[in-house]
Amino acid sequence: MSDFPANLPGKPERARARPAAYNGRYAAGAARGHARGVIMTPEQPEAELTQHHGWDARTLKVWVRAQGRCEYCDADLLGSASVYFHGAHIDHIVPGTGNDLDNLALSCVACNRIKRRKMFVAAGEVPPERKTLIERAQRYIGERRVRDEGLRQIARPLLIACDIAERAV
Ligand SMILES: [Zn+2]
Repeated sequence: MSDFPANLPGKPERARARPAAYNGRYAAGAARGHARGVIMTPEQPEAELTQHHGWDARTLKVWVRAQGRCEYCDADLLGSASVYFHGAHIDHIVPGTGNDLDNLALSCVACNRIKRRKMFVAAGEVPPERKTLIERAQRYIGERRVRDEGLRQIARPLLIACDIAERAV
């Protein structure tokens, strides 16, 4: 196996046992084999995340269903360490109605704060399906974002004029 990278951790026998497709895609330090591009069985990523990265199974299901994106604004919640660790929330779509998976949504912090405890079920209405509730929340959050952007556009030049936002060009 002369084409195998020399800086691999572990014993040479272990290196020889790896498939050829592994070559050139192995990240140093990925001793358990969870670096991007590493070949895994379908069960391995979930086991890695729950056993070694502190994920609980329910949270992982929410992330997988949402494909790592905010379900309200489509922000990529894996895009940076700050967002991954501090910018993602599990939102209760209808607050106060429990932790059933259907009532949970992956949300960026901004969308969760905009939405707060707003109900998207009218008084006396039979609660609609999850998809409809998400669509209602998306519409509400989108409208609030448009309003907020208008306010930001007004505040920005004022702050610049106050010399407190010199770099906000
Ligand atoms: Zn969002």
